[in-house]
Amino acid sequence: MVATMYEDGELLRVMIRCPLTGRAIPTGLKASPRTWKDRPIGFNRVSCPDCKQIHAWSKKDAFLEGQADS
Ligand SMILES: [Zn+2]
Repeated sequence: MVATMYEDGELLRVMIRCPLTGRAIPTGLKASPRTWKDRPIGFNRVSCPDCKQIHAWSKKDAFLEGQADS
């Protein structure tokens, strides 16, 4: 196995919580935990795989996979 180079550490999926089902869904973005805090993210839309609707989200709605605050 060839070692993989990580410039920025592991990339995690950026998730939001579906407002209808309450379940975490992937936004299609990925980010490293190290740079996530300072990463500017504007207004986005995601096609929800759970309820099949379009959800608008911004960074305050988002969290990294496995790092949900509850
Ligand atoms: Zn949804």
